Amino acid sequence: MNPIHEAGRQVVTMSRRGRHLWLRTALGGLASLGAVASGIAQPAPDAGPARLSAQIEAGVDRFAPQIVELRRRIHANPELGNREFETAKLVAEHLRALGFDEVRTSVAHTGVVGVLHGGQPGPVVAVRADMDALPVEERTDLPFKSTVRTTYLAQEVGVMHACGHDIHTAVELGVAAVLASLREDLPGTVKFIFQPAEEGPPPGEEGGAELMVAEGVLRDPAPEVIFGLHANPDLETGRVGYAPGPALAAVDHFYITIAGTQSHGAWPHESADPVVMAAQAIQALQTIRSRNMPPLEPGVVSVGIVRGGERFNIIPEHVHLEGTVRTYDPGVRDLVERRMREILDGITRAGGGSFELVYDRVTPATINDTALSERMAPTLEQVVGGANVLVTPPTMGGEDFAYYANEIPGFFYWLGTTEAGKGSGGLHTPTYRGDDEAVVVGMRVMASLITDYLLSAKE
Ligand SMILES: [Zn+2]
Ligand SMILES: [Zn+2]
Repeated sequence: MNPIHEAGRQVVTMSRRGRHLWLRTALGGLASLGAVASGIAQPAPDAGPARLSAQIEAGVDRFAPQIVELRRRIHANPELGNREFETAKLVAEHLRALGFDEVRTSVAHTGVVGVLHGGQPGPVVAVRADMDALPVEERTDLPFKSTVRTTYLAQEVGVMHACGHDIHTAVELGVAAVLASLREDLPGTVKFIFQPAEEGPPPGEEGGAELMVAEGVLRDPAPEVIFGLHANPDLETGRVGYAPGPALAAVDHFYITIAGTQSHGAWPHESADPVVMAAQAIQALQTIRSRNMPPLEPGVVSVGIVRGGERFNIIPEHVHLEGTVRTYDPGVRDLVERRMREILDGITRAGGGSFELVYDRVTPATINDTALSERMAPTLEQVVGGANVLVTPPTMGGEDFAYYANEIPGFFYWLGTTEAGKGSGGLHTPTYRGDDEAVVVGMRVMASLITDYLLSAKE
């Protein structure tokens, strides 16, 4: 049992005694972190790549234990989208303790943006982490597992960092500490973006990357590129993956109401049965994938919710369907929406009913800038070793990182988070189990990407 595990146990105990104490204790730890950071800042006339990478190594080793402890605190105290109040406070205090030049809070509700100016001239780059958790009840063996509960959509739910955003936040806090410690040698400016509600804001609210961009996080100072990462349980700790081009799909959310005429279940001829129409529609929607899309074009149409009826012997008046569409090509996205309308129109006309379709385009596709991917790949290989860098196929999962990457060139990669020999459930499941050590790897990789980009921009 190492000291980090001991610290984790303490954290769990503290979190049970309330949020306030948790935050105070976290901040107490942060003050010393800031002092350490400023204590090792050494101006140097010759800030070459070798010197910076040696400083990153030293900084990662120095800050890793404290950052892992913060990760455990964040993991044990997860907060849902647009409600990341304590996490945001922790982040802002951390950046202030590190002597950041600027720390803005309450951006897009609970977002935090920090600016760190290096001592050497150079461009501005941005790095983004998301802070929100999910309504999932944690079932892992982690000593710092979440026992937090809250109310979500009028139901009592567990809350868990089931998408690994605690790791993303901790990595970025770690990168902030490391880069602050070598800031005199840093050739440029780094903008640290901590974003709420990546999983989507609660119904009726705005939020996430789209709102961050609308509130101007990519201006003043304007970064020329942006980096981001996502935890990946399919990769062991120490490995990273990236897709040099299309990386994550566009995410749409559709809501269908099929209306018919209610009747007794024994007199179906007096109804216009929305259950039968819904059943036909569910089947027919799959022909969009199989018959309308070019076979080699990525695309998914999935119905996730079917809701209708009150009693076994009543044909109801309405059936509600809800689901998601994932695509890459904007033309295919338009095609899916158009075909959905045509199919629903045909089926409900034939069945004597009607329909309403609300087609919400949630997130565009995340496309990695190919030139930037090519430029940064050697850094990945250098930091984790060529054999541990995978070029991964695009996925049908989605990410609102797309909103940044649509504005400026972006590079978004996968960080392996599964402890060797331990296994992990998938993202968004109660058994997703992110490894502490992945935070340390993430710090090393992300700090190196930023400094290598700044150094190469200088050349
Ligand atoms: Zn997620
Ligand atoms: Zn996520």
